[in-house]
Amino acid sequence: MTAIVVVEDEPDIGDLLALYCRREGWSVHVATDATSGLATIRAREPDFVVLDVGLPGDRDGFDVCRELRQTSDVPVLFLTARDDEVDRVLGLEMGADDYVIKPFSPREIIARIKAVLRRGRTEPASNNATFGPLHIDLDRREATIDTTPVPLAAQEWSLLGKLLDHRGIALSRQQLLDLAWGTDWIGDPRTVDVHVRQLRRKLGNDLPLATVRGVGYRLD
Ligand code: CA
Repeated sequence: MTAIVVVEDEPDIGDLLALYCRREGWSVHVATDATSGLATIRAREPDFVVLDVGLPGDRDGFDVCRELRQTSDVPVLFLTARDDEVDRVLGLEMGADDYVIKPFSPREIIARIKAVLRRGRTEPASNNATFGPLHIDLDRREATIDTTPVPLAAQEWSLLGKLLDHRGIALSRQQLLDLAWGTDWIGDPRTVDVHVRQLRRKLGNDLPLATVRGVGYRLD
């Protein structure tokens, strides 16, 4: 089922959007500030986020999007109230997929969400990846080079899986720790380096795993 998270502090707007989303057969959760919004998005892992720019407290929708983009490429549609916000929404660094200026019709929002979801579907999520002679099947936990199996340890699979989930995105050591080891794991971020070294040693140069200076790692 398509899952939507709406982050909007005005109850009338949040309720209305939730109603229209449910009519489409989508599951929807509404959060009313930045902190609960981020927590809801992390917990629900939605297919789409509708994000109001003006939120109560010291973090606005831009802050939510910036933080979200460190670990997620979920499509984001901004709700903006003012023209000067639009300028910032359009700033490329924000990573928004679309925006709508208030007041808007819920139908318009639904149409925009559908359009973005359709675009996303041209790139189906896959648990398989092939890099030259290297083939990785996450579901089967099988890696092969020229059909010769390469055994990986459980933690190496976990790390490799998260890198594949976030292809093209540079992830910091801490983000990789949180994703692959879990946020309750206490340890040295250099653990990531050790496991990356193992992955490179075992899977060879065909694995396009780049070191991003000052950040961490990126799988291309
Ligand atoms: Ca607002």
